[in-house]
Amino acid sequence: MLGLYVHIPFCSAICNYCNFNRGLFDEALKSRYVAAVLNEIRGAAALESRRQQADTIFFGGGTPSLLDPSEIGHLIDACRASFALPSDAEVTMEANPETVTPERLEAFRAVGVNRLSYGVQSFRDEELGRLSRLHSASRAAEAFGMARAAGFDNISLDLMMWLPQQSVAHWLESVDALIALKPEHASMYMLELYPNAPLRDAMARSKWSLAPDDDAADMYLAGFERLDAAGLVQYEISNSARPGMEAKHNLKYWTDGEWLGFGCGAHSTRHGVRSKNRSSTEEYIAAVATGTDLVVERRELSAEERLEDALFTGLRLTSGIDLEAAAGHYGVDIWEKYREDLLPFTQAGLLLYDGARLRLTRRGMLLAHEIMAVFIRSNVR
Ligand code: SF4
Repeated sequence: MLGLYVHIPFCSAICNYCNFNRGLFDEALKSRYVAAVLNEIRGAAALESRRQQADTIFFGGGTPSLLDPSEIGHLIDACRASFALPSDAEVTMEANPETVTPERLEAFRAVGVNRLSYGVQSFRDEELGRLSRLHSASRAAEAFGMARAAGFDNISLDLMMWLPQQSVAHWLESVDALIALKPEHASMYMLELYPNAPLRDAMARSKWSLAPDDDAADMYLAGFERLDAAGLVQYEISNSARPGMEAKHNLKYWTDGEWLGFGCGAHSTRHGVRSKNRSSTEEYIAAVATGTDLVVERRELSAEERLEDALFTGLRLTSGIDLEAAAGHYGVDIWEKYREDLLPFTQAGLLLYDGARLRLTRRGMLLAHEIMAVFIRSNVR
């Protein structure tokens, strides 16, 4: 089953740490963009010899909740007209707390959105201020309540840890505030500062610092332990959910699945080919209008790359890699092939090998990049 991703590149303001493909909201540009994406979706389906099956739609951004509910509805309708989607398909929309009202949430639900993913980032106002976010902690909690009242029974909340001036205790306050709301799903990421992030300048100007590395490790370990204890079970390096409420769409990325991405900068992976649409919103609209190829990068993955991808994404999951299935798929005995390089990690308690599966411990997840680098090093030898 395919996953369908729809990129909405508009935001009310640009956060000082954000490196996503997004720009400032513009009403006229938004209307032209939605029309272009509708054309791309319909055009993609017209190229298929038969109607393809899909079971998830994900509106990501940017801030998809800035669209009018009717626009989201038209995009969902186009997906349903172009692909065979079950009536209970997971339809997720990313939303920022300041963009929603009870009426808008009811309307989003009425047009077919059945899962909301709120970008909360922190439940402490001073941290939200340092990140230049537009909402307050109380507004995030209020937006959550509005979504519940509108009938949403599948809500995810995102938090970020290792923020400027954040202590372990501050971080755990946010985790506890999230738990108190009882969402079905939670995502918790470490802040990653890209080289030219305006937040770097703000930190230098205001003399804000990051907690030491050991504290960052404690934030990660203690945060996920608290979620586990609250019944939100970790299933991926940055994601926890009540059993059965894992993100079906995102699982496609981590389980060697296939998806089609629509909109500017959207990625697709299908039949072993990875492709990426042009990133600029204006260029994307112009290319749709003139029938020019939207794709700017298209690459057939080699057998080696497919294996590497499967190892990387498999290790992100707490269930790890099924070695027998991987041997069937890729014709490689993974443990035998990488054993020598992996042994130091199993001996250090960072990686578990039980004969059937290979998986990272929670402490190992903190060092995932180093452990996964083994696969690249071994392949180039
Ligand atoms: S709202 Fe999200 S996508 Fe938009 S600028 Fe902020 S972090 Fe980036």
